[in-house]
Amino acid sequence: MNFTLKRISLATLTIAATLTIASCATSPTGRSQVLLFPESQLDEMGVQAFSSMKESIKISNKPVQNDYVQCIADSITQYVPKAVFDDEWEVVVFDDPQVNAFALPGGKIGVYTGLLDVAINQHQVAAVIGHEVGHVIAHHGNERVSQSTLIGIGQEAINVALQTNEVANSQLIMSGLGLGFQYGIIMPFGRTHESEADEIGLDLMAKAGFNPQESVELWKNMAKASGDNSQPEFFSTHPSSETRIEDLQAKMQMALTTYKVALNRPNCQN
Ligand SMILES: [Zn+2]
Repeated sequence: MNFTLKRISLATLTIAATLTIASCATSPTGRSQVLLFPESQLDEMGVQAFSSMKESIKISNKPVQNDYVQCIADSITQYVPKAVFDDEWEVVVFDDPQVNAFALPGGKIGVYTGLLDVAINQHQVAAVIGHEVGHVIAHHGNERVSQSTLIGIGQEAINVALQTNEVANSQLIMSGLGLGFQYGIIMPFGRTHESEADEIGLDLMAKAGFNPQESVELWKNMAKASGDNSQPEFFSTHPSSETRIEDLQAKMQMALTTYKVALNRPNCQN
């Protein structure tokens, strides 16, 4: 290595080390994470992405359907730590056959009507919402956008997208938030993020008074819905692993203990 190269790589290392030290965080399951962006910026990304989705996808106008999903989401979100989002969550039901749902930083939840054919009761819908909110609680969006930034996409470009209200046009941000299926680039959550969201989601649904055992039924229904020609859209960004159900079952005893002492027993009617 010649002198110039050595200087460059030393400088790069120093920058990387500084960023890491400045932004090292720990996820709810104790994993260390690199989060380069202030949470306020992630909230802004979520808000901009959500408003763009509301403009481009038909919204369900069926009161019963809306009340049903709202009831489940409200039951779950009251157990989200206030440090993650300290306001009322906005919940929208999109009138679209895709089997999918999402949650975004900034207190946003979207559920597609297609999901309601596969998640057949309030507990199963709660399992999906719990999983989605789990990604938000564990700052997976920040971590994913940060990883892309570390591999060379400028922080400055992200700041510009935020300032000019162009988040919906940034594939990096949209896919980082887990919304790739709608925007042409799919960046599935990795296995670590998936199992972390499953674990947080299971605990959340149990705390909220939904039967955690229904999470296993949900994943069975999802698998059943994967026909030869179709696959629930959910799996494109939230890939399933062979051990997903076993992993949930390994945590079931603890979740059932939480469920037994839960203060509420929601009765959301569809
Ligand atoms: Zn996921």
